Amino acid sequence: LSTDSDVVKREAESTSRKSVGSNAEKFEFQAEVSRLMTIIINSLYNNKDIFLRELISNASDALDKIRFLSLTDKEVLGEGDDTKLEIQIKLDKKNKVISIRDRGIGMTKEDLIKNLGTIAKSGTSAFVEKMQTGGDLNLIGQFGVGFYSVYLIADYVEVISKHNDDKQYVLYLWESNADRAFTISEDTYNEPLGRGTEIRLHLKKEAGEYLEESKLKELVKKYSEFINFPIYLWASKE
Ligand code: ADP
Ligand code: MG
Repeated sequence: LSTDSDVVKREAESTSRKSVGSNAEKFEFQAEVSRLMTIIINSLYNNKDIFLRELISNASDALDKIRFLSLTDKEVLGEGDDTKLEIQIKLDKKNKVISIRDRGIGMTKEDLIKNLGTIAKSGTSAFVEKMQTGGDLNLIGQFGVGFYSVYLIADYVEVISKHNDDKQYVLYLWESNADRAFTISEDTYNEPLGRGTEIRLHLKKEAGEYLEESKLKELVKKYSEFINFPIYLWASKE
């Protein structure tokens, strides 16, 4: 994997980063979203594997969107790594981080704020209600809130994104430990940045099994069946 590419470049400096940048803005989650996250982060549900299905599905949706645009305008695919319509998963055993990267359509700052926390989808309260009466967490994707399943295995999550329409040399970082609020900060670079989204899951202590290559391989195989993009898995030695 080429390490000189945009988002990946941040990695060395920030995989274990726990504090927000100086330009961070804080946002409260919409109340129902906050309730949902509390349920998920404290859940004893034993099929936590589904977080990967939800993230692969979101990456695939984002790739579908850019591919669709490219049917009428080849230029939108960009150049270099941006042309690779694939999903990359990396296991960083040392920092206990799983990251999932796509070169899909990406999210603007407004997208991150709206889609990941401040505007509750219509399915949010219905799902919360279901959960309170013993419903199956596996159905989370059908309620349009699949993203939040990351908090089954992670207690701190970063989403780094650059939307296709954003021509500035800026990346936006969403981060939250599911404690009622998230922050958005931005990083500016002196060169063009790649398109797409990287999600970094800082694993809960008890979720160590997800750093095992064999475990992830099995899950990727299971959840890639109906995905039309290649999925690559990398694991650090230590
Ligand atoms: P759904 O996929 O059903 O819309 P999710 O909770 O899985 O619900 O995701 C919420 C929203 O966050 C998505 O609709 C999308 O707008 C945005 N999103 C999540 N992951 C990505 C991604 N990898 N690339 C672009 N947008 C994303
Ligand atoms: Mg989804």
